[in-house]
Amino acid sequence: MAGPVGAGPGVALVTGVSGQDGSYLAESLTKRGWTVHGLIRPGHSWSGDGVQVHHADLADSNGLVALVRDTAPDVIYNLGGISSVGYSWNEPYDTALVTGAAPIALMDAALQLQRSEGKAVRFFQASSAEIFGAAPAPQSESTPRVPISPYGVAKSMAHAAVAVFRSQGLAASAGILFNHESVRRPPSFVTRKITLGAAAIKLGFRTELVLGNLDAQRDFGWAPDYVDAMLAIASAEEPDDFIIATGVAHSVREFAEAAFASAGLGEIERYLRIDARFSRAADAPTMRGDASKIARELGWKATTSFEDIARKMVEHDLEWLDQHGPEGLSL
Ligand code: NAP
Repeated sequence: MAGPVGAGPGVALVTGVSGQDGSYLAESLTKRGWTVHGLIRPGHSWSGDGVQVHHADLADSNGLVALVRDTAPDVIYNLGGISSVGYSWNEPYDTALVTGAAPIALMDAALQLQRSEGKAVRFFQASSAEIFGAAPAPQSESTPRVPISPYGVAKSMAHAAVAVFRSQGLAASAGILFNHESVRRPPSFVTRKITLGAAAIKLGFRTELVLGNLDAQRDFGWAPDYVDAMLAIASAEEPDDFIIATGVAHSVREFAEAAFASAGLGEIERYLRIDARFSRAADAPTMRGDASKIARELGWKATTSFEDIARKMVEHDLEWLDQHGPEGLSL
């Protein structure tokens, strides 16, 4: 019997292809023989081996509908959108549009394509642990959604829509992603800010690192592992929602300690300055995912330890800054 359509290879449409996860996903799909169409924001440029680039704004629902119709994908991976909780406070309406409403336009377009062409279309939504707000840890698929930021609100709306479109016959799934990091994380996110900062101090380009809330506990995973989980979810027999997490939480302070140790620096207190302006308006104290469902049903589990994540990022950033000098800090 043929496997589910998502098992491929076939045609995939990836939004957010220029982002951390999108770029890893596109590499993985092309290696597996998929034809990959990637959505890029108008005016931005990006290229990836074997990826056919299309310019469209996630805020433009007509453009999204046309893109789905023209590319006729077997699977849509929706990874695009405003992905920063902090930034969502600056642009709450845009966040609602591109992170909350765009997935609805894409699912609607997928369902129309499926109905008009008789072609099965799968949909994967990059959902987020931020839909749970400050709910007590561990958070699982059945934890109530009580978002506490514009980003969480937008992701929560999209998450609810996945179940609605699934009920209408679209094979739509959500991966509820907890924090995941890599050397492709932008420095506007705290982990990369820390690893670049540690590397810059080690090389003598900086003397201190300024951070906000060190006590927030997060479930930090490795992005390429999480992309494997997305592939497993999109190719599963039955569409469903799954937590993607390591199951272990560490504080931002612990991440800084691990990064500074990897850089060969001593006590972080010698280099850290705390500035409340870098703290969020509202922050969940502890996010830790219960990923037992995806382990049980799809056989996925995280493979990269917390210490290895910090070490790989620091090693990369030491090499990067060694090659590019202090200018390498303005990524
Ligand atoms: P990312 O690196 O910030 O990538 C987001 C992508 O969306 C970028 O390619 C960005 O393009 C694109 N984008 C933003 N606004 C757009 C617009 N208006 N039109 C077209 N494209 C637009 O995010 P990521 O870390 O890879 O995360 C992937 C997905 O997982 C996101 O939906 C994120 O919210 C979700 N998620 C991530 C994490 C995590 O820890 N990484 C955790 C939970 C959920 P530009 O580069 O041109 O701006």
